[in-house]
Amino acid sequence: MHIVLGLIIAFIVVAIFARRNRNTRGCRWREDRAGNRGSLRKYKCAACGAEAFTSQKGPPQTCKSHLPKS
Ligand SMILES: [Zn+2]
Repeated sequence: MHIVLGLIIAFIVVAIFARRNRNTRGCRWREDRAGNRGSLRKYKCAACGAEAFTSQKGPPQTCKSHLPKS
């Protein structure tokens, strides 16, 4: 029974982490025009303070909060 319990806990933990990595709803990207580098537009997350550059239209698709801060 302990193996079953362990598998259930492991599944829940994996599900939480997978969801957290994909979930960007917590991020509120704000364009930081002063930090633009050429064609790269700088965005800053108002929710977690993460900074990201993107050459695409619109804000980044992923949250960078898990990356180490420079
Ligand atoms: Zn964020």
